[in-house]
Amino acid sequence: MHSLCMLILPESQNGCSNTKYRKIRIFRWNHVDSSGACCAVVLFNEILSCVLIYLSYPIMKLTGMSCDQPVPQLWKMYLLYVGFGYLNIIAFFYLHKLMHHPSIYKYFHKMHHEWVAPISIASVYSHPIDHIFSNFVPYFIGPVLLGSHLSLTWWWIIYAQMESSYHHSNYHLPFLSSPQYHNYHHVKFNQNYCDPFFDGVYKTNLVFQKSIEAKRDRPFYSLTPIDVQYPDEVQKEK
Ligand SMILES: [Zn+2]
Ligand SMILES: [Zn+2]
Repeated sequence: MHSLCMLILPESQNGCSNTKYRKIRIFRWNHVDSSGACCAVVLFNEILSCVLIYLSYPIMKLTGMSCDQPVPQLWKMYLLYVGFGYLNIIAFFYLHKLMHHPSIYKYFHKMHHEWVAPISIASVYSHPIDHIFSNFVPYFIGPVLLGSHLSLTWWWIIYAQMESSYHHSNYHLPFLSSPQYHNYHHVKFNQNYCDPFFDGVYKTNLVFQKSIEAKRDRPFYSLTPIDVQYPDEVQKEK
């Protein structure tokens, strides 16, 4: 639902900094003409996720996932969510980097990169094998390894999917996290595999760090669009 809501937003100056793509989209609805095929792939992948959840539920129960127990205390829920987040980042970085290996990229992950200027719902537009390794496993590795009340797992999956769809929306909205980092990955395929820490360790964000998008990669708390706060001319002057 979040993705569909983002899909019908008109293009605005709050968009990310892919200006050459924004030029062809300005005053138009977001890729409505090409989103039908995207929706079909997304629907297939979501059904695949349901099947995988059903099949992996016995493993989840073995590691402690339950809906019989009372919901954990607030501090324990917080620690679990932090754990889910870190395990998600670690798994996504290595699996996503694997998907970019030259010998397998064209078979699985290339499909996701058909969207150079993505839309929200394209966060789940991927080959089913890519969907399993790049989406399903990173989302569920935390709840499975750490054990979790079923309700916490669902809240985590809802949050993670909303965050992912926003980070593919091509909008950088005030008061929310920055989607610039992954947006740049869709423009330059060998940059920004996951997050600044791991990309920093493996030196896979050096080009990004020198770009104007790196300056824009932060939350902002005013109604002035981020690309107005940090215009392209700033880069040219350097
Ligand atoms: Zn993506
Ligand atoms: Zn990628």
